[in-house]
Amino acid sequence: MKLPYHAVVSLAVSALVWLWLRSATAALACFAAGVFVDLDHIIDYCLQYGFRIRPRHLFRAFEAEMFDNIFVFLHAWEWILVGLVILWLIDWKPAALGLIIGFTTHLVLDHLVNHHNPWAYFLTYRLAHRFSSRHYYGAREYRKRRKHMKKMTPSP
Ligand SMILES: [Zn+2]
Repeated sequence: MKLPYHAVVSLAVSALVWLWLRSATAALACFAAGVFVDLDHIIDYCLQYGFRIRPRHLFRAFEAEMFDNIFVFLHAWEWILVGLVILWLIDWKPAALGLIIGFTTHLVLDHLVNHHNPWAYFLTYRLAHRFSSRHYYGAREYRKRRKHMKKMTPSP
């Protein structure tokens, strides 16, 4: 899902968190987690294209281009389980609860909107497939991106 949509949905969910918990810190943590989870894409971008980040290309690359590997370490359902255990250990502190809600919202939206393999957002699945983009994208999206990349590559 695109960043502006994450920001809008995160803002709405953060407002609900504020209404529920009456904690500005929890609402802010919710918003930050809902938006900034996508920062992990920058690592993948640098590994694919080098450390000279071109913001416009970064967004375009994740929408249509083909990566050799997809790591996106923060995009993983497993972190929600880890987060819930931590929440339980720290007695459900509102800021941490807001963080988990924002994170979960981000992942649910990505899962529903992005047309990747249904298992793509499991870190263990990506690890088992050595972070290959083919397994992350899924067959249909992989073919679509490969076709797109062929169009972009000038023929000899
Ligand atoms: Zn995301």
